[in-house]
Amino acid sequence: MRILVTGGAGFIGSHLCDRLIESGHEVICLDNFYTGHKRNIQHLLSHPCFELIRHDITEPIKLEADQVYHLACPASPVHYQSNGIKTIKTNVMGTMNMLGLAKRLKARFLLASTSEVYGDPEIHPQSEEYWGNVNPIGIRSCYDEGKRISETLAFEYHRQNAVDIRVARIFNTHGTRMLENDGRVVSNFIVQALKGIPLTVYGDGSQTRSFCYVSDLVEGLIRLMNGEHVGPVNLGNPGEYTILQLASTIQNMVNPDAEIVFKPLPQDDPRRRQPDISKAKQWLNWEPQVQLEEGLTKTIAYFRDYLNNSK
Ligand code: NAD
Ligand code: UDP
Repeated sequence: MRILVTGGAGFIGSHLCDRLIESGHEVICLDNFYTGHKRNIQHLLSHPCFELIRHDITEPIKLEADQVYHLACPASPVHYQSNGIKTIKTNVMGTMNMLGLAKRLKARFLLASTSEVYGDPEIHPQSEEYWGNVNPIGIRSCYDEGKRISETLAFEYHRQNAVDIRVARIFNTHGTRMLENDGRVVSNFIVQALKGIPLTVYGDGSQTRSFCYVSDLVEGLIRLMNGEHVGPVNLGNPGEYTILQLASTIQNMVNPDAEIVFKPLPQDDPRRRQPDISKAKQWLNWEPQVQLEEGLTKTIAYFRDYLNNSK
C-alpha cells in the first residue's frame, strides 16, 4: 500500500514510518518540522519506498494514498501552548484538510487522538464511554478541545461522507527520538538526571500517569488501522505511577545523586490517568509488552548517546 503519515518526522510518527517501511509499504511522510526533525527519518531518506514532503497541514494538499495515519500536532504542553492558536488551526483546519483528502481518495483514515479528551477525569481508570472533564478555556484547551473537535470531525466525515475512520486515544508514550527540550515528564527527568541537574517535579508529585513504550503504541496503531473497529480505542500501558515514583525510578536508574526539586503545578494538570484497555485487548488482541523500567532503559540509552554526541 501507499501510506501517508502526517507528523511522520515526529517522535511517534517516525517510529510508525519505520514499521510501515519494514512491512514493505510505500510511505509518504508529511511534516512541517514544528516539533519533528529530519534526523528522526534521516535513515529513511534514501529508501526507494520513502518520500518526505515538507508541508503544513493547515494548507490543503493533493496526494495519492491508500491509508492516512494522521498524527501531525504538537503533543507536549510546552510546545502546544507556545502557539495555542496554531495548535487549534492544526487540529481544526489541518484535520479537516486531511479528512477531505481521505474522502477524495476513499482512503482509510486513522486519527491519533489522546487521553487528554478525558481532561481531569472524574472516573478511574478511563474507558472510552467516559465523555471527559475538560476546561474549555484553560491553557490546555487548545490541545484538549482541539483533539475533541478532531474526533468530532472524524465522526462527521464518517457519518456524512462514509469516510472509513479509526480513532485511537493515545495515553502518555515515551521512547527514543523524543526531543531533548520536549518538555514532557519522561524526557525532562532523564535529561535532567543525565546532566546532573535537579529533577523538576511539578506540584507534590502525587498526580499519576501511565507510560507506554513507543514500540507497543505503534503496534496498537497498526492493528487498529487494519482491524474492523472504528473506535475510539484507548492505547496505553495500564501501569499507573505517581510522578514522584517516576522521578525516583529515573533517579535510581540514571543518577542516585541527582536531586529532586518541587515546582508549581501547572494550571489544569490532570490528577490521575490510567487507561482501561479492555477494548484494545478484545478488538485488537493488543496489550503492551514493554514494562516501565524496560522501556526507560531504552529511552535513557538514547538520551545518553544523544547528549554525548551533541557535546
Ligand atoms: P511530536 O510533536 O513529536 O510529533 C508531531 C509531529 O507533527 C511533528 O513532527 C511536528 O513537526 C508535526 N506537525 C505539527 N504541526 C504540524 C502541521 N501543522 N503540519 C504538519 N506537521 C505538523 O509528537 P508525538 O508525541 O509524536 O505525537 C504524535 C501524535 O500523537 C500527536 O497527534 C499527538 O497529539 C498524539 N499523542 C501523543 C502522545 C504522546 O504521549 N506522545 C499522547 C497522546 C496523543
Ligand atoms: N511534570 C513534572 N515535571 C516535569 C514535566 C512534567 O512533574 O518536568 C508533570 C506534569 O505536571 C504532569 C505529568 O508530569 O503532571 C505529565 O506531564 P507531561 O507534560 O509529560 O504530560 P501530560 O501532562 O500531558 O500528561
